[in-house]
Formats: sequence, structure tokens, C-alpha cells
Amino acid sequence: MTRRRDEMLKEMGLWPRWRQRELPPSIETAASEPEQPLTAASDMRTASSAVRVPPAETDDRRTHIMRMDWPALKACVAECTVCPLHEKRNKTVFGVGDENADWLFVGEGPGADEDAHGEPFVGQAGKLLDNMLAAIGLKRGRNVYIANVVKCRPPGNRNPAPEEALACEPHLQRQIELIRPRLIVALGRVAAMNLLARDASIASLRGRLHQYRGIPLLVTYHPAYLLRSLPDKAKAWADLCFAVDAMKDLKGKSGNEGPEKKNGNEGNSTNS
Ligand code: SF4
Repeated sequence: MTRRRDEMLKEMGLWPRWRQRELPPSIETAASEPEQPLTAASDMRTASSAVRVPPAETDDRRTHIMRMDWPALKACVAECTVCPLHEKRNKTVFGVGDENADWLFVGEGPGADEDAHGEPFVGQAGKLLDNMLAAIGLKRGRNVYIANVVKCRPPGNRNPAPEEALACEPHLQRQIELIRPRLIVALGRVAAMNLLARDASIASLRGRLHQYRGIPLLVTYHPAYLLRSLPDKAKAWADLCFAVDAMKDLKGKSGNEGPEKKNGNEGNSTNS
């Protein structure tokens, strides 16, 4: 462990005591997935084959973030220097969309276009995501919120390192608590790994509902990957159809408008 990393972990209140979250025996390793050579996944497997989580009793920063409202959370991210990703960012990329959305799409982190604009999914992958949304009758900002695992661009468009994702995780958790989506769609393996706290292949995670803190979650391919792998677009389409059916079921179970979730501003679009 380098001195820089020690300093960062101390700042986050995560050092020196870490514990490993045990993986259920049914979880597959990601070694069989050919499509995404992910640095983060590789690092996780090399280090421990598990996602490391901080001991809750020392996590004052997390507790502080979990009490934030939207303005405080946005200001917190805009000023954040907790992990090394702040050093080369141009803009933080907080997230964008309807803050009371039913749908939450989560990617892994900003790329160059996003870093320049301060908004997630604005490049070619963003166009594809918008097309995917349109295909199921959705539109960015209308009952849809889009966020990333990390809010600052990993240099060279690499995947966020496990400790960087861990550092930024309270921001995403608080976003999700404030949005209270009915359904989360994890875009790509980095998002899935971090939201589900497990290391598994996309293939093994697709096609069924998982849970993120009680919220249904499904996994599909990242749009950037789909740009490079056209055959898997058909699988992504199947995932979207599955998502639509899941949303219908979820709305049916909770009564069409859902009880306390909606507060009358559905459709309100706010850029972050
Ligand atoms: Fe802070 Fe997240 Fe940016 Fe790291 S990636 S500096 S934790 S906002």
C-alpha cells in the first residue's frame, strides 16, 4: 500500500481497518467474461476476490453525507477532493435528470466529453443511451435519472479503481436515497459490481432482478461497450424489455402512482 493511498484512506476514515465482505458461494468469478477487460475488476480479484467495505463505526464521512439534501450533496461533490480523481478532473459530473424519477440508470464514471460538460453520458455512448431510453418510451430528464459510480473522470478513461469507487460510494448512495427510484439499471460491470458489492460477469447477472438496499436492480451492458460490440445490442434490447416488464410489475404492486414516493413533481427535469 503506497503512502498516497494510506493518506487517502485515512482521510476517508477507512484506514487501517478494512473488512472483507464474504461472497455467497453461488457467485461466479468474472474470469469467463470476455467482453470487458476491467481494471477495477482485475484489481479486486487480484487483491481479495471481494469488495472491501469500511467499518461502519468509523465512517463519520458517510454518516454526514447520508444526512445531506440535494443542494448540500451537490456542493459536497463539487468540492470533493477525497480521492485522487479530483486532481485531473475539469468538472465533477454529479448526475442529471428527474430527482423524483422511477428509473435510475447508473454507469461507471465520466469520460472526456462528460468531464468537459459536467453531465453524464453526453458523447457517443450518451447518444446510444438516449436511443435506448427512447426505445422503451423514456427520455433523459423525464422520470429518468442518470448517474455514475464515480463523479470525477478516471484519467485515460480507465475504470475507476476499487478505492476510488469506494470513496465516492456514499455520494451515489445518498443520490439513490433522495431519488428513491422504483428500479435501478446498472450499465456495465463496474456499476454492477459496485452496486451489488460482488464480482461477477455481466452474463451471470443479466436477466433477473437483484436488490440494492431494497430497491430492485437489473444489469445490462454499458452503452460504450455496445458501440464496440454490435451483436450484444440484441441482448441489451432484451434487458430493456425485461426492465419495462419489471417496472410494470413494480408499479402494479405498489399501486400505479406508488405511495409516498411521488410528490407531484414527476417529470421535473433538473440538470446537475
Ligand atoms: Fe470525490 Fe468522488 Fe470525485 Fe473521488 S470521484 S474526488 S470521491 S467526487
